[in-house]
Amino acid sequence: MAGLWIRVSITALAILLFALLIKSLAGGYAAFVVAFGCLVIWVVFQLWHLQKLNSWLRDFRLAKTPRGLGTWDILYSAIYRLAKSYERQQTQLKTSLESFRSATEAMPDGVIALDSHNQVTYASDRACRHVGIRVPADYGRSLLNILRHPDFGLYLEGKAWDQPVVLRNVPTIGRVLQVQVVPYGQSDRLALTRDITQIDKLETMRQDFVANVSHELRTPLTVVAGYVETLQTIPMTDEQREGVLQTMGQQTSRMQALIEDLLALSKLESEQKPNSELAISMTDMLSRLSHDAEQLSRGSHRIVVDNQAPEVQLIGDTQELASAFGNLVSNAIRYTPAGGSITLSWALEEAGQATFAVTDTGPGIESQHIGRLTERFYRVDKDRSRVTGGTGLGLAIVKHVAARHEAKLDIQSTVGQGSRFSLTFPQQRVTLI
Ligand code: ADP
Repeated sequence: MAGLWIRVSITALAILLFALLIKSLAGGYAAFVVAFGCLVIWVVFQLWHLQKLNSWLRDFRLAKTPRGLGTWDILYSAIYRLAKSYERQQTQLKTSLESFRSATEAMPDGVIALDSHNQVTYASDRACRHVGIRVPADYGRSLLNILRHPDFGLYLEGKAWDQPVVLRNVPTIGRVLQVQVVPYGQSDRLALTRDITQIDKLETMRQDFVANVSHELRTPLTVVAGYVETLQTIPMTDEQREGVLQTMGQQTSRMQALIEDLLALSKLESEQKPNSELAISMTDMLSRLSHDAEQLSRGSHRIVVDNQAPEVQLIGDTQELASAFGNLVSNAIRYTPAGGSITLSWALEEAGQATFAVTDTGPGIESQHIGRLTERFYRVDKDRSRVTGGTGLGLAIVKHVAARHEAKLDIQSTVGQGSRFSLTFPQQRVTLI
């Protein structure tokens, strides 16, 4: 169709020019004027359409496609079709890019696309937060200049990318990052970033825990092993043997207590909720606790029970709560020198809450230790704890039992005057008889 129109136009123009030439040579001025006029009209028509095309292309909008005559209409339609298909491709590309972007944003890892010179060509929001990339300002910058960490530099340059690299104290965010580079295409690469601060902390805690348990068990085991050898090799009097067996008994009790506390802790950690939800008489609980305290103290301390709310019962697991309260009472007795006093109290608070507290007149604890007392194996005075039979796990158990009963553990202490450990239970755990 277009070819036909072009051929018709060229033929018409050629005839016109030929007629013009013949008539000019033959001297027919009227015919010349007519032919010249037609030529001028034709040229003006073409110029007008050229102008129309020019202004349409300058401010290109599909909706404003001009209409034309003959070849021009065909030309406009061809441009319209081309532009339409370009627009469709653009939309498709945009949709693909959007879904790629949403996919990378949904990934738990940050994604950074790099070219062969390690320049950033794309970074997901998570990666920007991990590494401190500013979009789009940092596009085109080398990742080495953005993530300035010596270990990352060595990793990226070394090209041993089958394993990720762990970066501690990452500049600007001060966290622990794991970065894995994955090559793709010709020479492009993806850097996948993951914030492993929490996992790293847990791993450190796990390692510390294993080291602590091994250390706690090794000491009494060494003592027992040493005495077994002594008993086997050195002749002893009955009195000496009795002393050795007594020490061995103490050390095995220590190991037993440690194992029991470890098992109790692991049980508490494995479940979120208390095993049972019974209404517990705190009057009975306090009398049992004070009886145990008297046994442990063997008359060295004054044990006082201050039950201000005998009508108030506590809802929870009797065994767990007895173990938490018992740990606080046994700590008070173990750390308070003979002659001191220990008060066990139960009281109703504002807003229907209730508090169990153990107050002692012991040595007190310096404030810098208080926040860490519930960590496993954290002790202010290691020797004192061991001598008095402590496992270093008592307050960790208390913390877990408190959390399972939505209770708040509060520690108040003044060096030289004593300490107060309290557990405040919310209204829903408190009931009247
Ligand atoms: P431990 O078995 O060593 O007593 P805990 O977890 O029960 O372990 O307590 C942690 C540390 O808190 C103890 O080692 C001790 O230093 C300190 N502590 C606990 N209770 C008291 C208290 N009533 N008075 C002084 N220090 C205490």
